[in-house]
Amino acid sequence: MIYKCNLHTHTQFCDGGCSMEEMTKDAIAKGFDTLGFSPHSLTLFDQSYCMKDYPAFKQEFLRLKQKYQDKINLMMGIEADAFGQTPDDVFDYTIGSVHYLPVDGKFLSVFDLNPKKVFALDESKETFLKLLAEGFDNDILAVAKCYFDTVVDMVQKTKPTIIGHFDLISLYGDFGKVQSEYQQIAKDAVKRLAGCGCLIEINGNRKFKGRGGLYPADFLIKEFAKHGFDFVLSSDAHVTASLGFEFDETVCHLKTLGITRLATFDKNGNKIFVKI
Ligand SMILES: [Zn+2]
Ligand SMILES: [Zn+2]
Repeated sequence: MIYKCNLHTHTQFCDGGCSMEEMTKDAIAKGFDTLGFSPHSLTLFDQSYCMKDYPAFKQEFLRLKQKYQDKINLMMGIEADAFGQTPDDVFDYTIGSVHYLPVDGKFLSVFDLNPKKVFALDESKETFLKLLAEGFDNDILAVAKCYFDTVVDMVQKTKPTIIGHFDLISLYGDFGKVQSEYQQIAKDAVKRLAGCGCLIEINGNRKFKGRGGLYPADFLIKEFAKHGFDFVLSSDAHVTASLGFEFDETVCHLKTLGITRLATFDKNGNKIFVKI
């Protein structure tokens, strides 16, 4: 394995299927040198999947960090939803993600922490179609525009270390008939983010689940690279089986797109690069 870092990991403290210790042991067995935990931040309007007991998470993290200090560099992060609440604490890094859009179809400030009615983008096709019909009059490009506006707003206001699954909208959004218009909207968002200093996540979770390719799509990876962004590779792992899933294959693929290095962090939390 060339790239031995995974910063997007869920556990028993949110919607993960394995414990923090199981994930740690699995990462060590697979040869990782860096593992970051990124529980979903608390979203008041949907508490089914997010972290509700931050002190317990932190306590277990600190226990494991010490226990495995000679074997792996454990990092404490958070996947901060655009409409979520991040605990007032110091994290090694943050992943900024947009998982919801408001049903009224209007752009919503990311500081509105308890929006009236929102739909999850990655819950199911049915939920996505409801959002599209009720919120956007079935205008697929309008929903894309609102999504990417929300991502840009989230990045500008919260300045995450990493931008998570940048084109999550493509999971259930069918842009087949309006592909070039969709690509333009997404590329415009990349342009607006240029110079923000965030890392872009290459996320393999969708591939692991057999629901398509990587986030973001190749045309966006190339666009981000064109604007000088750097990348991290992650599994968005919820179970040990997905930790490091197809990392080597993905690295080979990224090389064909012209990517020459991936970011990771050393033991002191400094950003370093792995040549690929
Ligand atoms: Zn996510
Ligand atoms: Zn995640």
